[in-house]
Amino acid sequence: MMPPDRPVALVTGGSRGIGRAVVLRLAAQGFDVAFCYRSRRDAAEHVATEAGTLGVRVRAQQVDVAQGAQARDFVAATEQELGPLSAVITCAGIARDSPLVMMREQEWQDVVRTNLDGTYHICRAAVFSFMKRRTGCVVTISSVAGVYGNAMQTNYSASKAGIIGFTRALAKECGRYGVRANAVTPGLIETDMTEGLTEKIRTRMLEHIPLARFGSPAEVADVVAFLVSDGARYVSGQVLGVDGGLVI
Ligand code: NDP
Repeated sequence: MMPPDRPVALVTGGSRGIGRAVVLRLAAQGFDVAFCYRSRRDAAEHVATEAGTLGVRVRAQQVDVAQGAQARDFVAATEQELGPLSAVITCAGIARDSPLVMMREQEWQDVVRTNLDGTYHICRAAVFSFMKRRTGCVVTISSVAGVYGNAMQTNYSASKAGIIGFTRALAKECGRYGVRANAVTPGLIETDMTEGLTEKIRTRMLEHIPLARFGSPAEVADVVAFLVSDGARYVSGQVLGVDGGLVI
C-alpha cells in the first residue's frame, strides 16, 4: 500500500508544554508527527492519542536527546516508519537553576547536554537527508535567556545562546541546499517549567512584559507552524521572539 502523501515532522520533547502544543498544532495542519520524550510515558501516550484523533499518523518514542545514539535511532526509526522528514523541531529542554558559585558540574552538564548537545544530535542525524533532497527545515527552541541572559541560569542561558549560534550557522551552511533553519525564543510560557515560580517573581516579571501576561504553549506553536509552512519559504537564519514584548 502506498504511504499517505503527508509531510512528516519530528518533534523533540513532545510529551508536555511547548513540544506537546507543537505536536498537536502540526497534526491539526496535516503533518504525520513523530515525537520523543524523556521519561513521562503517560503524558506521551495522551499526546499520541490526542494527535491521532486528528487523522494523521503519530509515533512516540522514549529518547534521551543528550545521547547521540538514541537521537540517531529516533530519526532513523521515524524515517523508516513514516517516511522522509520535512521538518525538525527541537523543543526538548531542561533547566537546573543555581547561582554560578554554587552550580555543580552535573547541573551544568545536564543542561548543556540536553539543550545544546541534544539539538546537535538531532540535527546531525536529520539534516543530511534534507540536503540530499534539497528541502526541509529546522526550528530550534531557544529562549529569551539565550539572548539577554538570566541570573541563576548561566548553564541554561549558555545552552540557549549556543542554540542561536548553531541555528544561524546551520542556516548559512545549508541554505544553498534549500534547507532553512530558524530559532524561536519564547519568553515566559505557562508550562511545567515555569510552574514553580513564586507569586513574587511572577509579579516582578509581569512588569517587564508589555502584554502583561505569560504566553501559552499554543502561542509558541502557532509561530513554529508558520516557520515550517510554505509561507515562511524565504525566512531563514532568524531568531524570532515569542515573548509578549518582554523588555529586560
Ligand atoms: P516542559 O518541562 O514542560 O517539557 C519539557 C519536554 O522536554 C518534555 O516533553 C520532556 O520529556 C522533554 N525532555 C526533557 N529532557 C529530555 C531529554 N533529555 N530527551 C528527550 N526529551 C526530553 O518544558 P517547556 O515546554 O516549558 O519547554 C520546552 C522548550 O522551550 C525547552 O527547550 C525550554 O527551554 C524552552 N523554553 C521554555 C520557556 C517557558 O517559559 N516554559 C521559555 C523559553 C524557552 P518528559 O515529559 O518525558 O520529561
